[in-house]
Amino acid sequence: MGGAGFPTSVKLNPPPGKRCEYLVLNGAECEPYLTADFRVMLERADRIRLGVEIMRKILGGPAVRIAIEANKPEAIAAMEKAFADIEGNVEIVVLPVLYPQGSEKHQIFATVGRVVPEPPALPIDVGCVVENVGTVAAIADAVEKGEPLLERVTTVSGDAVVEPKNILAPSGTKYADLVAFCGGEKVAPAKVISGGTMMGFAVSTLEIGTTKTTSGLLLLSKKKVFQYASGACINCGRCLRACPMGLNPALISKAVDANDIKAAEDASVMDCIECGACSFGCPAYRTITAKAQAAAAK
Ligand code: SF4
Ligand code: SF4
Repeated sequence: MGGAGFPTSVKLNPPPGKRCEYLVLNGAECEPYLTADFRVMLERADRIRLGVEIMRKILGGPAVRIAIEANKPEAIAAMEKAFADIEGNVEIVVLPVLYPQGSEKHQIFATVGRVVPEPPALPIDVGCVVENVGTVAAIADAVEKGEPLLERVTTVSGDAVVEPKNILAPSGTKYADLVAFCGGEKVAPAKVISGGTMMGFAVSTLEIGTTKTTSGLLLLSKKKVFQYASGACINCGRCLRACPMGLNPALISKAVDANDIKAAEDASVMDCIECGACSFGCPAYRTITAKAQAAAAK
């Protein structure tokens, strides 16, 4: 149920010769507006505890690290209470408030200090499995109640919504119905984003349904939406400083402009986690992340 939608069954079946030493629970919800995982930690702490016990059994008893950002003290308290009497090597790791913090590679480095090599390497190659807290709660429901994954919590927010809420809704619920449940639109939205403001994508209609990875639905008024024209790169280097993966986003975007996918690959575009940090700080308003996404998809 994390952003990438990577199948849990694969994570829970390490290939021969690989062993899970650390199970990392990702409770670091670092994108602006999104609070769905936060609510799951508050309201489904018992399910997360059971999900961890089930996963530890499947994975052969790894140590557990529960990663939560420091600006969520209620969630930290809820997890401390839920795991107070659990046996074994289980720790809550309070992370600094940073963006991006939720990608698997960053979680692993922040919690256990290990570095996942370049693709196709996976977290299990450094002895780790990372699961979103919502997934862990869903595992408890799947095993204890035999329930398939039918629903998830989605944050509906933005200044164009009458009453922002977190909603537990069946997958496939129309966006329009989520907005209606929040009292409708306060003003006509200038932009609708499925997901968060940094990694989500704009949608042109509310007549589509949620999926297992729909973490948020944001309706933003004109005053919150920055309209700009993209210009030429001025080689300022800001995107290089911003990139959490140590890439050269300017080089990638220029390669895509030149339709030179090989050059983008040589610049390690496949390592891009699509965090949007490069585009966010670019003074020329270049759509670097979208270009990296386009190159990675080819
Ligand atoms: S931040 Fe924008 S203008 Fe500056 S180097 Fe990167 S792409 Fe070029
Ligand atoms: S979106 Fe930009 S900043 Fe983020 S990983 Fe990709 S190239 Fe780096």
